[in-house]
Amino acid sequence: MRIDILTLFPEMFSSLDHSIVGRARKSEKIDVNFHNFRDFATNTQKHVDDMPYGGGQGMLLMPQPIFDTMASFPHENARVLMMDPAGRKFDQAFAEELATEEQIVFLCGHYEGFDERIKTLVTDEVSLGDYVLTGGEVAAAVMIDATVRLIPDVLGKKASHEDDSFSSGLLEYPQYTRPEEFRGLKVPEVLMSGHHENIRKWRLSESLAKTQRLRPDLLEKYELNAEENEILKG
Ligand code: SAM
Repeated sequence: MRIDILTLFPEMFSSLDHSIVGRARKSEKIDVNFHNFRDFATNTQKHVDDMPYGGGQGMLLMPQPIFDTMASFPHENARVLMMDPAGRKFDQAFAEELATEEQIVFLCGHYEGFDERIKTLVTDEVSLGDYVLTGGEVAAAVMIDATVRLIPDVLGKKASHEDDSFSSGLLEYPQYTRPEEFRGLKVPEVLMSGHHENIRKWRLSESLAKTQRLRPDLLEKYELNAEENEILKG
């Protein structure tokens, strides 16, 4: 997958140098390219922003530097995502969709946001959540992280993300590692039984209970099968 990031602050993406995403870059499963659109500003002061027509607070990103940056690299079939608090809310389903793309372009805003005409360049306006950040960099880094881990072979085993919270529509069941007992807190017996069917049932039941407790909104959208219905009734 090719990733292109239009930003005034490429240094804010140092998280992409590390851990799983950093390894995916080193092994060339993803190719990340930064484009600082200030480099494309044609005015002598290299300004990329100006005052809004009609008045109002703050400065807006001008179309010219962003249009010229977009024209400087190939992106014919790319998904072009504008980071925008007013956009579609990013979630696991969207990350799964993006993980199948060959190229994604991230447009990171700053100041009071974008001149409206820049939206003619984009395929999706996307928000990280219902709050306003100072810029799109943190939002884009989160979306890249969530997407890249879903690209085949980036995580060790496919199953590594299939049980993740949100992937199945339910929250993930509780997990334990060694020791069997820590400060009086014990690992549930069933997990050490070696009985795969009982472990599967326990995990399903814990997933359902956790989702009901923490995110009942997810359960409302989830289609329960007969076994799950039975567990919730019981
Ligand atoms: N005036 C804008 C508004 O009210 O919608 C907010 C501008 S914000 C200070 C500057 C930039 O940060 C935005 O253009 C966007 O690129 C990015 N940004 C802020 N909050 C975001 C969010 N929740 N999701 C994605 N990007 C966000």
